[in-house]
Amino acid sequence: MNPGKALLRQDMMPHILCPGCGHGIVMSALVRVLAKRYASLDQVALVAGIGCSSRVVGYIDANTLHTTHGRALSFATGLKLARPELTVIVVTGDGDGLGIGGNHLIHAARRNVDLTCILFNNETYGMTGGQLAPTTVTQAFTTTTPYGNHESAFDATALVTAAGATFVARAQAYRPDLLEGLIEQALDHRGFSFLDVLTDCTEYFSRKNQLGAGSDLLFSQTRSDTEISLDLTEWPRLQEPDGFPVRNLMPMGVLHESNRPTLEEVMELPGYRPKEG
Ligand code: SF4
Repeated sequence: MNPGKALLRQDMMPHILCPGCGHGIVMSALVRVLAKRYASLDQVALVAGIGCSSRVVGYIDANTLHTTHGRALSFATGLKLARPELTVIVVTGDGDGLGIGGNHLIHAARRNVDLTCILFNNETYGMTGGQLAPTTVTQAFTTTTPYGNHESAFDATALVTAAGATFVARAQAYRPDLLEGLIEQALDHRGFSFLDVLTDCTEYFSRKNQLGAGSDLLFSQTRSDTEISLDLTEWPRLQEPDGFPVRNLMPMGVLHESNRPTLEEVMELPGYRPKEG
């Protein structure tokens, strides 16, 4: 039996994710990492806000908190300070964690709380109907930008780096092998670790922008990776740099790593065991 399967709450199936949604790939990578690292998830807490990505914590048989919109990091900070021995992982989306919860994100980074935040970045508010998110690329159509987006997108990695995060990386659903490795590095890191994961919304973002099926969306992520060079002749829409609203040339991998005391160390919390990294 797949060891990751034992970590799933079978009574929560079937899941709510739409066919082709990239979130399942990201969740699977997280489950495989958890299965590899922990014999039991008794000491692991997954904290989520609201949205399609946040919903995935309900499928994993760890200690799970499904909190209010945008507030996962504030709940997680409180949990980590109260139970510093736990491994705390926040699962959030770009709308939840960077839009509605953006203020909590920068302050969690500033405090260098010893937890890991995985942001599922699909450029839209999926669960609430495909509205504009702070990561939506310019020109893209959404429910709330019927004439195209006139704004610029946030670079979440640059934001949290400037705010004081001590491990910052970006990955893609397209490359689950690299994603798993970065999740492991984030979990090994001592301090606030942040992972921006490019994923997709087939139901809203793709339909509004006529971007095709889940496989087309995944493939479009290769346009974001400066390290991957693929033959695009089979994918004519990807050859339209001015007409295809994709995230262009975003660097992947570990983007920032530094070392300073965690909030738990500064507070000298009993029960906190700093990692060696
Ligand atoms: S609405 Fe979009 S983000 Fe939500 S499950 Fe469906 S495809 Fe995925």
